[in-house]
Amino acid sequence: MEKLIITVAPTGSVPRKKDNPHVPMTPDEISETAYLCEQAGAAIIHVHCRDADEKPTSRFEIFKETVDKIRKRTKLVVMTSTSGIAGATDADRAAPLKTKPEMGSLTTGTLNFAGRKPSVVYVNSVETVQFLAKAMLDASIKPEIEAFDVGFIQQGKKLVDLGLVREPAHFQLVMGVDGGIPATPENLLHMVAQLPPTATYVVAGMSRMQLPMTTMAIMTGGHVRVGLEDNLYLKKGVLARNEELVARARHLAEDLQREVATPEEARRIMGLSPRA
Ligand code: MG
Repeated sequence: MEKLIITVAPTGSVPRKKDNPHVPMTPDEISETAYLCEQAGAAIIHVHCRDADEKPTSRFEIFKETVDKIRKRTKLVVMTSTSGIAGATDADRAAPLKTKPEMGSLTTGTLNFAGRKPSVVYVNSVETVQFLAKAMLDASIKPEIEAFDVGFIQQGKKLVDLGLVREPAHFQLVMGVDGGIPATPENLLHMVAQLPPTATYVVAGMSRMQLPMTTMAIMTGGHVRVGLEDNLYLKKGVLARNEELVARARHLAEDLQREVATPEEARRIMGLSPRA
């Protein structure tokens, strides 16, 4: 089996400090987290940024400062988010790509975030998805196709057919968002079976399903994503730190006799150029 790539998603767009004081918000906090997570075994970091009020932002200047600081302190593969914030234009969503990350996230369908109050519709029209895919293609940024349900995989395959995503494509299987596919073993195996034969994939399990989905990913030859974007707890009632979630994934992989990839090995597995 290929070595295991551990991605850390430390911030996301939802949790606040009041939910978990360890969620990094500022460029300094995110780069410090990046350093600690690299030490713990992470190879990729999925970056969201926040403004001074902890609200999600796509502002270029904030992303630039964050990405620069991560690069200064670590060798991690940097993946910026292109997720939409209410009212964000396609150009807003593409702004973080101007920091020249090696990878960018690309959600290929619209979803209800049904568990939030009030609920949120995460809108990703075909035109928006293609716009973001083209922006990544033109800048030689590898997309991570985010699939919250089975149909999102099929939409990702269409981008490959259209020449907007290069093969081998890379998918993130997002398991257990309220509104997306539930995080069960059967559902994960079904998702994996839909992928193109040459694809790589990373599994993200939400909340308490992060640990079981991580375990399944290690066993099935996928890669794993952990972090406070998806899960705030180490176990019931115990708030997690990002580096603890990374360390747990690494220990699990080592116990299951699967080696963990360094950032440079992750670049090879993902078909990225070595870091200069
Ligand atoms: Mg994200």
